[in-house]
Amino acid sequence: ADEREILDWRTYGIASRQLAQAVAADGYRPDVILAIARGGLFVAGSLGYALAVKNLHVMNVEFYNGVDATLDMPVMLPPVPSTVDFSAKKVLIADDVADTGKTIELVRDFIQDHVAEVRTAVIYEKPRSLVKCEYVWRRTDRWINFPWSTEPPVVDL
Ligand code: 5GP
Repeated sequence: ADEREILDWRTYGIASRQLAQAVAADGYRPDVILAIARGGLFVAGSLGYALAVKNLHVMNVEFYNGVDATLDMPVMLPPVPSTVDFSAKKVLIADDVADTGKTIELVRDFIQDHVAEVRTAVIYEKPRSLVKCEYVWRRTDRWINFPWSTEPPVVDL
């Protein structure tokens, strides 16, 4: 599995539309979409339009790769939204991919006790993910090239 999964912009458009249709067909009508930045921002925006949801929030989560593999964990970066924003709401978490699933698990656990219901939509879910997302466009165990992060930044790092 050293071949990559390539998602181009055109296919992303189809994928996000189909993901939204899966949510709608299931009868889930979220009040709020919660994007996990940065990749989840694209997905959240697309789902927001397709599902006619205007209430979008963002959480910034960064995955820190510690030297010791057992110390690997995602962390929330400020500003962290207030859980009041989600109280008694039906929330849809949006991200590009659930790989280990730890990022989504962190966000879900953070809001779980403050919401009416929480479900998760992702473009890709990998088989090893510890979170089983309710809405998944495709499953793969390959490394995915997303259209927004395939090209390097235009600034010097
Ligand atoms: P997690 O392991 O917590 O589910 O995923 C953490 C983050 O790693 C994802 O939100 C994504 O930004 C990044 N990531 C995981 N797998 C892939 C992949 O196959 N391709 C890309 N481009 N990023 C990935």
